[in-house]
Amino acid sequence: MTDDQGDKPVTHPMWTVGALLSNMAALQAEDEVETDLVSVVVDALPMCDIHKYDLGQPDVPATYDGKTKRGPWAYMCGECFDAKGVGLGTGLGQRLEVRS
Ligand SMILES: [Zn+2]
Repeated sequence: MTDDQGDKPVTHPMWTVGALLSNMAALQAEDEVETDLVSVVVDALPMCDIHKYDLGQPDVPATYDGKTKRGPWAYMCGECFDAKGVGLGTGLGQRLEVRS
């Protein structure tokens, strides 16, 4: 019977602190994901890329930043997001909210 581990202390204070910190970080990250998932706060709304490039109307404010059905991400107004967007959420799109 081997007893190699018998001489070593069983408690590992550093490990305990590390686990606590990473647990707290995980909890904080969860909070952030909930608020960041579908909306982002911006200083000013960008212009709608679809209206600008596809429709030649460069001054339509965009209220979404999201992936389009064609693949690339674009700033989109509500109308274009409904028509071209793939949805809200991580990896899909976010609603833009102006910082107040
Ligand atoms: Zn648009």
